[in-house]
Amino acid sequence: MKVLILGGTTEASALCRALEDAPPFRPVLSLAGRTRAPTLPAVPARRGGFGGVPGLVEYLRREGIEALIDATHPFATQMHAHAAEAAREAGVPRLAVLRPPWRPVDGDRWTEVGSMAAAVEALGPAPRRVFLTVGQGELAPFRDAPWHDYLVRSVEPPDPAALPPRARCIAARGPFHQDGEHALLRSERIEVVVTKNSGGTAVAPKLAAARALGLPVVLVARPPPPEPPVVAGVPAALEWLRGQAALRGV
Ligand code: NAP
Repeated sequence: MKVLILGGTTEASALCRALEDAPPFRPVLSLAGRTRAPTLPAVPARRGGFGGVPGLVEYLRREGIEALIDATHPFATQMHAHAAEAAREAGVPRLAVLRPPWRPVDGDRWTEVGSMAAAVEALGPAPRRVFLTVGQGELAPFRDAPWHDYLVRSVEPPDPAALPPRARCIAARGPFHQDGEHALLRSERIEVVVTKNSGGTAVAPKLAAARALGLPVVLVARPPPPEPPVVAGVPAALEWLRGQAALRGV
């Protein structure tokens, strides 16, 4: 049974690994192609956009895809919508995998905001030392607050043209650990952390480190979730796939 997995997340990679050698499933991983050197699981993979809903419908039909798993990032709203619409049009069963958002615990000093522009505003008029981990494509709004010192961390170096003037960059790929995050925030004398509510464990240690240091965090809230059916993790996605295989008698 040929399964298209829309990836770019730890869940998509874990799902591919679980299906690497699990007949009757034949997984194909699809990546948007934003990361130049992605860590790839040992399954067939393709890269790049499909060309909107019509392109994805055409791909699903041409490749004989029998199930679609949308395991893109919680903030990948366009791909979520395209996946749901294209699957409906092509008559392919689809499931979204959405990791739960982070929730504050005792000691967290979070300000949740609805957009990147609101995150910029939440930093305020006084210069601060900011740890910015919002993804390399979302930095431009911070150019509107050029008086802060930014330490930008992303998987790959961002486009210099998108950076605010007082920014330094670190390219690093998670998972990160609390000791290292704690040491980084301290040595860089960070005063506030800005991030998206991505959820998951790989990049969460910065939040624990901020809590331990009593630092405020500006958190960009989740966009609306993909349409149902949605599950929270890989085990439930595997169960759904087994159900689809049983329905097809494979
Ligand atoms: P998006 O805004 O929802 O998607 C934009 C377009 O990128 C889609 O319409 C599609 O192009 C293409 N695309 C996205 N994911 C794709 C995939 N897995 N395979 C093929 N094409 C894909 O999403 P995005 O924010 O650009 O995210 C792109 C990728 O980065 C995703 O794989 C996502 O999981 C990952 N990611 C996103 C974030 C984030 O915060 N948004 C963070 C970490 C990782 P066409 O319309 O041409 O098909």
